Amino acid sequence: MDTGLKQQDQSAIAAASEKTQAAGRLLCLRSVRDLPGVAGRRAALLGRLGIETWFDLLCHFPRAYEDWTNPLPLSQLQDGEEQTFLATVARKPTISRRGRLSVIRVVLKDEAQAITAVWFNQPWLADKLTVGARYCFRGQIRRQGRLFQVQNPAYETLETDHSAESAPAFRPVYGLTAGLTQGMLRFLVGKVLEQLAGALPEPLPDWIRRKYRLCAVDFAYNRIHQPTDERDLLIARRRIAFEELFLLRTGLWLLRRRRRQHGCAWPLRLDTAAEKALAAMLASLPFTLTSAQSRAWREISFDLSDNRPMSRLLQGDVGSGKTVVAALAMLQCALGGAQAVLMAPTAVLAAQHHQTLTGLLASTPFTPQLLTGATRQPVRREILAGLAAGDIQMIVGTHALIEESVNFARLGLAITDEQHRFGVRQRRKLGRQDKETGQSDEKGGFDPHVLVMSATPIPRSLALVLYGDLDLSVIDELPPGRTPIETYTATSADRGRIEQLMRRFVTQGRQVYVVCPMIEEQEDLDLESVVATYNRLAQQVFPDLCVGLLHGALAAAAKETVMRDFYQGKIQILVSTTVIEVGVDNPNAAFMVIENSERFGLAQLHQLRGRIGRGPYRSLCVLISDSDDEMARQRLRAICHASDGFAVAEQDLQLRGPGDFFGTRQHGLPPLRMANLYRDRALMQEVQEALETIMQDDPDLQQPAHRRMCRMIMDRYPTEFSDIGL
Ligand code: ADP
Ligand code: MG
Repeated sequence: MDTGLKQQDQSAIAAASEKTQAAGRLLCLRSVRDLPGVAGRRAALLGRLGIETWFDLLCHFPRAYEDWTNPLPLSQLQDGEEQTFLATVARKPTISRRGRLSVIRVVLKDEAQAITAVWFNQPWLADKLTVGARYCFRGQIRRQGRLFQVQNPAYETLETDHSAESAPAFRPVYGLTAGLTQGMLRFLVGKVLEQLAGALPEPLPDWIRRKYRLCAVDFAYNRIHQPTDERDLLIARRRIAFEELFLLRTGLWLLRRRRRQHGCAWPLRLDTAAEKALAAMLASLPFTLTSAQSRAWREISFDLSDNRPMSRLLQGDVGSGKTVVAALAMLQCALGGAQAVLMAPTAVLAAQHHQTLTGLLASTPFTPQLLTGATRQPVRREILAGLAAGDIQMIVGTHALIEESVNFARLGLAITDEQHRFGVRQRRKLGRQDKETGQSDEKGGFDPHVLVMSATPIPRSLALVLYGDLDLSVIDELPPGRTPIETYTATSADRGRIEQLMRRFVTQGRQVYVVCPMIEEQEDLDLESVVATYNRLAQQVFPDLCVGLLHGALAAAAKETVMRDFYQGKIQILVSTTVIEVGVDNPNAAFMVIENSERFGLAQLHQLRGRIGRGPYRSLCVLISDSDDEMARQRLRAICHASDGFAVAEQDLQLRGPGDFFGTRQHGLPPLRMANLYRDRALMQEVQEALETIMQDDPDLQQPAHRRMCRMIMDRYPTEFSDIGL
């Protein structure tokens, strides 16, 4: 009886809260145009800040806070600081005019001292400030002779003359755009908080909030915009960062899960003959796989044999030997009777891969084809026909291969190399192939298995977000016998000696890279241009050697010619931009000079220098920089000492934060508004633990709280996760 009643009560409460939540969700999605004073123009300005809905406004978090908590006595004010102080209006304000400008001056004082406050073009203030009343002021302090002055200070009226607690505590400072003011944003945010009071829907299940001691959603969003003290601010911040990482991470997990559950791939099972063919290829290689390569290969091979589509990231430092693993996967695919495609970010890299794969697969019945922008029309037509008919089992090309919706008879495996140029959204474009027609088709048909290769080793906590839609295989070991690359810093003054060294390497039969950050001379940036460097080296320094030039503006065919000449040893010194950054493999290249090296991120420098040290020769990398920025010098020194990609990534993150290279935008994810992938790594661990609990206890998201969370993920990230639905 009793329990029955309780149950009824509880379900009534649950239903009611479900209703409030639903109403709250709708309110969150309301347009800012529904707020007072936000007509067309202001709405457009807000739009520029990425703010369209009420909830967007709440997620426009303050970038700083003005501290009004400890007003200073005038005697402690300091020149040049933005400070808060308590003072009494000593005399009646004076108004003067200078042309169109009206100036109000007021003398303020406390027990010991006086300060002049000046406001421009705010004549109404003259009537608002009462002589003899005390206010709390805040503004930039300037010394003017003996006296201090403050211009256009903000001020607050104190309720009674001494109650410090009635002064405001922290005031939010928002990122603005021309036409908007702090006051406006504070007002609008305040309005939304008021309207949503008690109705802000809670995306986090109760058990998560309890377990990880996270404050309630209302408290968090109120305090982050209107904090009363520092402690509450931290509590709010932690909760919002957790929520952000958790929803994003869960969304990615659901994406992957949906693909595995609803997707259908060709199961590429290995029969005895196929096993034999794979073993024969392995035996034909001039080396044996490292144990890390073998492990990655086993993981991939296992996934491929399943009819649930693989979504896997193969991560391994430059030179760790990812290509051969890709070749094995392609072979398993072809042996299973399906087609395999490998895509690279540039035509140069595609051509390189094509050449390597042809070599690796020489002992097999399959010959990979190459299709890039440089492929001539008749050949192109033939290849396209071959792919549609299923006569071509392996193809290498640029990402355009999949984006141009080339027709495959039976696409079994899509591999993309160098992931950081290929984000979540593009990955999802590796869409379905209809069984009958080979047409991409949303409803039926087959998904290819997807393998993404990345040479950017990143800490696991970051990988969980940036590659959260993928399973992870790591090659964490380099093939044996590598000579470590010696890296040094230098300045332009050392150029003569460096050029002597270049000549010595060439005389010994080695080849040299010279890398420049830019294509054309940019006077204002004073950068060595790749063309100027090329001209100088080819004409003045090494007229007797063959110097080549490679940059992004060359036609695809020209690039291929240069690369081929470089591989064949015809070009001894290759001057290039970062087009060589990824994947280019010439084991005879042993010396690299990087110009203006302070312009590169550490991870990028590491990628670049990974082009050398690929053969048995002593390899040298010289980082030229004339920058005297201490931070830049420190970064360059750091990379001289770090040889392992994970260590470099760590350093890069520590020195720069996740910024551009590891940014979510780079990876096609929504920008993080509160969380920081580097600073919040400990939090990320908790997020992951919470998600793993859900994966275990309620993987189908049956519990109402989990379903609700799923809906809110779709609300928050409509572009990214609109289709994760249950
Ligand atoms: P990355 O992971 O940077 O793509 P690659 O696949 O280009 O690395 O391999 C780098 C070089 O190492 C290539 O010349 C390749 O032939 C060689 N290699 C790959 N695996 C092994 C191995 N197990 N033992 C020796 N050399 C290897
Ligand atoms: Mg590679």
